[in-house]
Amino acid sequence: MKAALFRKPGDMALETVSDPRLEPGDMLLRLSAAAICGTDIRIYRGRKTRGVRLPSILGHEFTGAIVDTGGHAGWKTGDHAAVCPALPCGTCRECRAGFENICANLTAFGYERDGGFAELIRVPKAFIEAGNLFRLDRGVSQLAAALAEPLSCVINGQDIAGVTGGDTVAVLGAGPIGLLHVMLARQRGAKRIIVVQRSAHRRAAALDLGADVAVTPDEAEGLEADVSIVAVGSPDLANLATRITRPRGRISLFAGFPVGEATAFDLNAVHYGEHTVTGAFGLTKTQFAEALDLIASGSLAVDKLISHRLPLEQVMDAFALAEQGSALKVVVTN
Ligand SMILES: [Zn+2]
Ligand SMILES: [Zn+2]
Repeated sequence: MKAALFRKPGDMALETVSDPRLEPGDMLLRLSAAAICGTDIRIYRGRKTRGVRLPSILGHEFTGAIVDTGGHAGWKTGDHAAVCPALPCGTCRECRAGFENICANLTAFGYERDGGFAELIRVPKAFIEAGNLFRLDRGVSQLAAALAEPLSCVINGQDIAGVTGGDTVAVLGAGPIGLLHVMLARQRGAKRIIVVQRSAHRRAAALDLGADVAVTPDEAEGLEADVSIVAVGSPDLANLATRITRPRGRISLFAGFPVGEATAFDLNAVHYGEHTVTGAFGLTKTQFAEALDLIASGSLAVDKLISHRLPLEQVMDAFALAEQGSALKVVVTN
């Protein structure tokens, strides 16, 4: 099969590789759509290595059509499916408490398992038995459904920060993740959504997708939010969040921050403001199901985030596009 083979940082190319070898109970999918995530780019550039094998196939946001059901009841070849990409161990303290996203023993597609930038994707039996495979009805866009994973992470972040109707929500950083935060906050009934973003075209995208106000970081000083979501890993934006969040408000450090760089955070702003600062990592299967429902029902038009769609043969062009600031979500299709 053809696949984007990641050999080492900076070295990935479309290659012919052997088809996945199935073990009893494994399923095989033919790729429908795989979206490029900022994390894929960080891995490609060597800025994220944990769990990543060399060589391997990246991609954790994908949908496919079943080629081999692995004998699992209730599935037939040709069925469309989305895969919740992370498999928790199910037995550690976090798993038992229901926080499977922060399981210390996660294995995931695009990391420990070969991922979506390939013609064929093996879904190991353990993922199916754990309920990580979700059926997609015929009418549901397989491109849009490929965005269920990032949307689930956004749901997790807003669940933890407690975003609800009536909140004034500031989203700092309007990349694809920030824009998903805007769409979800709107869907949750936020009273007012403020987007803080340097580039004009992304501010325009944010206004298109439901933000009430879109300003540059300088223009944001003096604004006030009940909850601020830091959606790109910029310490400057995290500190801006402490200044625009009302006393007793919440700050979600949603994005990961650069490793090894100074990440000074104004602790006294949090102290005097009585802010609640929350983190966010990954997703649970329940949140994945919620994301798929929001997409399938048309409640969240995530397809508006897809700026480019390229065939797998052009996967490296797709990565080049995704690395440019002008693209939003870039999706590779079979
Ligand atoms: Zn992702
Ligand atoms: Zn666990």
